[in-house]
Amino acid sequence: MSEPTLPPKRSVEAREGLRFGIDIDGTIAQAPRHFKRLIDALLAHGDQAYIVTGRWERRRQETEAFLASLGIRYTELVMRPNDWPGTVPEFKAQVVREKALHLTIDDDERNCWAIAQQTEALAAHMLPFPEALEAREAREEP
Ligand SMILES: [Mg+2]
Repeated sequence: MSEPTLPPKRSVEAREGLRFGIDIDGTIAQAPRHFKRLIDALLAHGDQAYIVTGRWERRRQETEAFLASLGIRYTELVMRPNDWPGTVPEFKAQVVREKALHLTIDDDERNCWAIAQQTEALAAHMLPFPEALEAREAREEP
């Protein structure tokens, strides 16, 4: 079995702001405190946090309100156009190219794989973060 060939990945120049792409459903929605900390740290250091979701553009108002309820700030919320003809992985790979993102975080391995194959960005699969443990410890504090 031969290894699949992936395109070369973007190198990061010193002092270049990083551009992250972060998914909502199954990612931010799954671990909102974790992603709030991550995004706040990125923005505080002059990096960019793009929220890239396969949700349709027609759900923008609801989605903005959802992110605001979690305290999630961002550089730009990029949603799938209502007339997008392709798949979600195709949409996300196109956004990564258009915004020249360095790294994306997504819970859907199809999105990660499309980004890994079709762009210069790194695609990180949403790893389980012990947010459930954090919530339990918070409940157990006297
Ligand atoms: Mg998702």
